[in-house]
This record gives sequence, structure tokens and C-alpha cells, in this order.
Amino acid sequence: MSNSYIQLLEERDIKATAIRILVLKAMFEFNRAFNLPDLEIKLDTVDKSSISRTIHLFHEHQLIHSFDDGSGSIKYSICSRDCHCSMEDLHAHFYCNYCKKAFCLKNISVPKFELSPIMQVESVNLVIKGYCGQCSKFAT
Ligand SMILES: [Zn+2]
Ligand SMILES: [Zn+2]
Repeated sequence: MSNSYIQLLEERDIKATAIRILVLKAMFEFNRAFNLPDLEIKLDTVDKSSISRTIHLFHEHQLIHSFDDGSGSIKYSICSRDCHCSMEDLHAHFYCNYCKKAFCLKNISVPKFELSPIMQVESVNLVIKGYCGQCSKFAT
């Protein structure tokens, strides 16, 4: 099992270390987007600065992408294997107003925009908000 994590890391030119494998495994276990506190809680035996350094490294090497779901903290999600975090790879995200979880909508690409020639897109944040269908909508 850890072989596939090693392979994923190496595909992104990241040297596989025990801590990086551990963090990557934890990321896969979420099945949703996560933020730094989510990982800190899940990996409570791991030093917080190592977790944060690992997130930055993974982000730099495009193993994960980040987005702003409007909750006030940056969320991260694991990239598809063929993702290069280019404009073509940008997709919408869903934020559940009830359970506060965010998910990738990888099959919904962000639309192309006609901008003035002097403008250049650097990022697009397309977040759809609503009820995820999985949580208890009326629990407060
Ligand atoms: Zn929900
Ligand atoms: Zn995503």
C-alpha cells in the first residue's frame, strides 16, 4: 500500500520520506478537501511545523491544489494524477453550508473568460454552496 504513495510522491519529484508518506496517507483518508487544522488533528503525533512544511512542499510540486471556499481557511485537495494545475485543470468546488465540508467537482471545469487584453487570469475560485446531501441538514 505504501508503495503507491511512494510512487505518487516520486511522480511529482518529491523524495519519499516516512513523514511525507504519513501525511499523504492522511490526506487520502479525508475523501474531501482538508485544511491545516484537519491534518493537525488527524496527525496529532506529528510536529505541526512538519505538517505545514509538507503541505507547502506538496502544493509547490502540484500533488495538491488549494482553493478558498469562503470559510476563512484555505482548503487543499489531492490533484488527479494527470493534473498540472493549469487553467485546463481548474475545476469548481462545492461547499456544504451545513456540515462545512468542501469537495472537488473535478468534472465541472471553470468556464473560459473573455478578458481585456491587458488582463491576465492568475486564479479562478468557483465555489458552489449548498447542501451536500450527506450531512444532517437540520442539526445545528
Ligand atoms: Zn454536508
Ligand atoms: Zn479540487
